Amino acid sequence: MRVFSIPLRTRFRGLTLREGALVEGEAGWGEFSPFLEYDAATSAPWLACAREAADVGWPEPLRWSVPVNVTVPACSPEKAREIVLGSAGCRTAKVKVAEAGQQPGEDEARLEAVRDALGADGLVRIDVNGGWSVDEAVARIPVLERAAGGLEYVEQPVASVEDLAVVRRRVAVPIAADESIRRVVDPYRVRDLEAADIAVLKVQPLGGVRACLRIAEDIGLPVVVSSAVESSIGIAAGVALAAALPELPYACGLATVQLLTDDVVADPLLPVDGALPVRRPTVDAARLQQLAASPEREEHWRRRMAEVEAVRQDRRS
Ligand SMILES: [Mg+2]
Repeated sequence: MRVFSIPLRTRFRGLTLREGALVEGEAGWGEFSPFLEYDAATSAPWLACAREAADVGWPEPLRWSVPVNVTVPACSPEKAREIVLGSAGCRTAKVKVAEAGQQPGEDEARLEAVRDALGADGLVRIDVNGGWSVDEAVARIPVLERAAGGLEYVEQPVASVEDLAVVRRRVAVPIAADESIRRVVDPYRVRDLEAADIAVLKVQPLGGVRACLRIAEDIGLPVVVSSAVESSIGIAAGVALAAALPELPYACGLATVQLLTDDVVADPLLPVDGALPVRRPTVDAARLQQLAASPEREEHWRRRMAEVEAVRQDRRS
């Protein structure tokens, strides 16, 4: 087991560093990088994902290229334009809206700028991160749809899955569930409540590529594969899922390696012509050496992995 610590370009979940453990097995490298506040039980699927990558590898791909979206944070219209134009050919933009402390008009201006930079044939989706009430969602979605010149879908307009179901019945734009899907049981709840048109799935929190393929089949919703801001070793698992899904109608949220200042591989999984190639990079020893965490952090992760492994053994017996 090796532990990496990579500075982030901008804060994510209040973090300035992304830390995680890499494990090597017969099939290659796997990444185990649950967020630091997650307990052993919550982290168990994350380890299952890493072990699948290292020990057995992934199902055969059905495609060799995975379209990805560029993500536009809650920034100025000028900055939004610059991000879209510098996005390595991404034809889908995910735009953050409803940022605390901003005026509603700022969302409209950002969306107009994104549409302008993307052109008429690009796709725009918005991510609310659960920031609206039901009434706000119902009022704001048509306004932002006009500003954006059409919306592909709205990601997590409200926080709870029950409210998501209510909003979905009151607006015409498709609804995607993201934060409502954090544990393996969650996608089934989204399905049962008919709370979303699209499910955002992440391989680590849901237990790996095969587990996600099963979930996708069970819930019968189109899937957008998204990342947990992993290194290219972890992103490769998301790419493997996107490559193995029978259908992939939407661009994925896997273009996040550029949020990190460095990577543990020599050939990072970065988009080319708006898509990630379906391939599996390997750890670069010199880079990993440079990005190695301190001995104290290494010890922390060693202990953590042992605790999570114990939870998994318990569940098996
Ligand atoms: Mg989201």
